[in-house]
Amino acid sequence: MTSVTEKTYEMMWDCEYCGKKKLLGKTHRHCPNCGAPQNPDKRYFPPENEKVAVEDHEYVGRDVLCPACQVASSRAAQCCGNCGSPLTGGKDARVQQEQVVGPGGAPAQPGQPGAAPAQYGGAPYPAGYPAAGPAAPGAQAAAGAKAPAGSKAKVGILAAIVALLVFCGVGFVCVNYLWTEEGTLSVTGHTWKRAVAVERYDDVRDKSPCSSMPSGARNVQRTKGEPVCTTRKIDQGDGTFKERRECKDAVEQCEYTVLKWAVARSETATGNSVDDQPRWPEVRLGPTGNCVGCEREGSRTETYTVLLVNTKSKKEDRCELSDQTKWASFKKGASYKGQVSVMLGGVRCDSLKAK
Ligand SMILES: [Zn+2]
Ligand SMILES: [Zn+2]
Repeated sequence: MTSVTEKTYEMMWDCEYCGKKKLLGKTHRHCPNCGAPQNPDKRYFPPENEKVAVEDHEYVGRDVLCPACQVASSRAAQCCGNCGSPLTGGKDARVQQEQVVGPGGAPAQPGQPGAAPAQYGGAPYPAGYPAAGPAAPGAQAAAGAKAPAGSKAKVGILAAIVALLVFCGVGFVCVNYLWTEEGTLSVTGHTWKRAVAVERYDDVRDKSPCSSMPSGARNVQRTKGEPVCTTRKIDQGDGTFKERRECKDAVEQCEYTVLKWAVARSETATGNSVDDQPRWPEVRLGPTGNCVGCEREGSRTETYTVLLVNTKSKKEDRCELSDQTKWASFKKGASYKGQVSVMLGGVRCDSLKAK
């Protein structure tokens, strides 16, 4: 289930003549301080705590720019509120890029994928006013980016920290792996381990989304998660913006008791010499079949370890192999050349060669 709520708020604008800030896009068509007409290019989304709601807003379309003086008027008007010219043929006021907050939509920055392209109505500067700062196409994008500047900085710092950690972590692993010197290692022994998992059909506490709960689940505990919400701020081009909040209902999680096969224990066989032939452990199962408490064999694992000592540093080392034949080919007492990490001293097992 998805629920959608919509609310309309005033855009804000700053008067570029007298410097008055945070004027309301719909209410203040002219600067209350100096009387300059509002430049729709300079509208921006207000900070969260300064939003002014517009009740029962009737949307009649984007503002129209007067063909004579370029001042914006409501789409409902016939003549320019500034110079009185007919508005027929006037272009649409341009709108700011949509802002998306929530999953899959970190604050959208201009030019980033995912951000809606700025719609440019080709609005030049209002005529009849000193050209204090003609709105260059780039200036609009800058104005649009003004609102999320704080969160942008935080995201930047976070990204830098993450990058540093990743660089150090990966860098250390890389240096450790790449910065090696040739060393000589002597084989001191062998060990092997073979294991067979034993699975039992029995009650297990398990969890999954309630919708995919297996049949026969008992003692069910339901947990309602948090809904997942996305908020879009859409500039309507008439001095207002629409805030559209979409919330997806949280997926209900269930924890329950259910009969299923699960690893109950593991039978192992071990040895410490090549002469001690690796073998699978004897597996003693309980009752077999499909009863409660019945047992069956699960997965098998085998590990073959060559014990080594670095002849120079006398440091003990080991190589775990999955190939039994290769493991047995290492002769006890024989020496091998290999790449040894300068920082940690461990040998790279795939580099071992008979001397
Ligand atoms: Zn002003
Ligand atoms: Zn006009």
